[in-house]
Amino acid sequence: MKQISHPKYSKSINGIFIDPQIFTFPFSCRCAGECCNYGVYTDLKEHDLILSIKDKIIPLMDETQSKNISKWFEAPEKDEDFESGVAVGTEIINGKCTFLDKHGLCTLQKLAMTEGEHKWKYKPIYCVLFPLTIFEDALTIDDEHIDRLKTCNKNGAQNTSIFEACREELLYFFGEKYFAELEDYKDEYLLQLYSGVVKNG
Ligand code: SF4
Ligand code: SF4
Repeated sequence: MKQISHPKYSKSINGIFIDPQIFTFPFSCRCAGECCNYGVYTDLKEHDLILSIKDKIIPLMDETQSKNISKWFEAPEKDEDFESGVAVGTEIINGKCTFLDKHGLCTLQKLAMTEGEHKWKYKPIYCVLFPLTIFEDALTIDDEHIDRLKTCNKNGAQNTSIFEACREELLYFFGEKYFAELEDYKDEYLLQLYSGVVKNG
């Protein structure tokens, strides 16, 4: 069940609380996609969707990937941060997510683009959002995972905020109306921050 208040964050948009640090945290996404080497947790519904289109996914896979669908996912587990209340992790095969091909491309994204659909149509939302994440009903920075990765945000070019770096992804996640509300909140928060009304962090 969604929280109506949050111990750390005051602003919520469409049921998701917002960690305002996303407006100031410096981030630069420039690496070969190391985040895909660890797989991802999918919502049960996303897992079911992926399996329902297995016949279209398999022909796009290469010899570094498993075409045996029983090897694609871990066992389901309860997790209230997922819409269905159940998360299913993708397996790691040859040191990378089962859906990552040898050229560093996500097969789910490749399929959507091959079909002329939106590139993220079949992609788990946690893949779209990373380096942001939803944790305990709040949109926040996945700093634990960023820190764990060797090349993520470590290129010395962090001259933009994680919000700006993930603008396209946030627009996709929230849709136009709620993204506009997020932008208004950003402007309001930054104004308060620069005028000393609030402190960062
Ligand atoms: S989010 Fe991080 S690990 Fe993933 S591609 Fe960008 S910089 Fe690399
Ligand atoms: S599903 Fe695709 S985007 Fe997500 S971790 Fe696997 S290869 Fe990467």
